[in-house]
Amino acid sequence: MSRILVVEDENHIAQGLRFNLEAEGHSVILAERGEEALLRLLEEHQEFDLLVLDVMLPGKDGFTVAHELRQAGQFIPLLMLTARSRPEDVLKGFSSGADDYLPKPFNLDILVARISSLLRRTKWTQAESSSSAEENFRFDGITVDFQKLELRKNGQVFQLTLMELDLLRYLIQNRGRPVSRKEILEKVWNLKEETDTRAIDNFIVRLRRYIEQDPAKPKHLLTVRGLGYQFVAEPG
Ligand code: CA
Repeated sequence: MSRILVVEDENHIAQGLRFNLEAEGHSVILAERGEEALLRLLEEHQEFDLLVLDVMLPGKDGFTVAHELRQAGQFIPLLMLTARSRPEDVLKGFSSGADDYLPKPFNLDILVARISSLLRRTKWTQAESSSSAEENFRFDGITVDFQKLELRKNGQVFQLTLMELDLLRYLIQNRGRPVSRKEILEKVWNLKEETDTRAIDNFIVRLRRYIEQDPAKPKHLLTVRGLGYQFVAEPG
C-alpha cells in the first residue's frame, strides 16, 4: 500500500481518483490547492509515496508547486496532470520537476496504471541500484549514486529528480556515442509524438551545473552540433 497525495481542484475528478486508487489498496489524501501540498510536504514533513498534481489550480499552479518542491529538496515521485491541448505543458512539467505526466481528459484505468508504474519504477530504481547490477558510477572525482538519487562532487551533494537521473543514466550507458534529442525523448521520456525538444536542453543545463567544472565549457556532457549530446567520462 502506498500513501498518495492528490492535488486536484475539480471535485468529480478528485473523487474518481480516490475511488480508483483506494480500490487498488492505496491510501489517498485529497487537496484542492497546491499550497496545501507545499504545507503538508515541506512544512509538516508528512510522508507520502507519490504526488498527483494537476497543472491548472486556483492559487499556485502545478508547475510552480513542482518547482518549489524540487527547489526545497523534496523529491517525491510526481505525476503531473496536463491539458491535452497544450503539448508544451508536458515539457514545462518535466522542466519543473515532474517524473511523469498524463494529459487530461484521461481514462482512470490508465492513470492508475501510470501511478503503479511510477511507484514500481521508484522501488525498482532503489532495488536495482542496491544490487551489484548497477553500482555507483564514478568519473573524474564525481560519484553518481543511483540508489540515493544523488550526485556527489568535492564533498557537495546534489539531489537529482528521477528524470534527471534517468537522463544521466541513459547518457552514461551510451557514453562514447552521440545521442539525439529525439532518441532521448523516446527512450528517456517515453514520448513518441512530435514534441519540442527544448526541455532536454534545460535538463542538460541543470546536469552540467552539477557535473562540470565550468558549465560554459563542458568536458563531460558535450553538445554534438546537429545531433544531440554525448557523455564522455574521461576527456582525452
Ligand atoms: Ca484543475
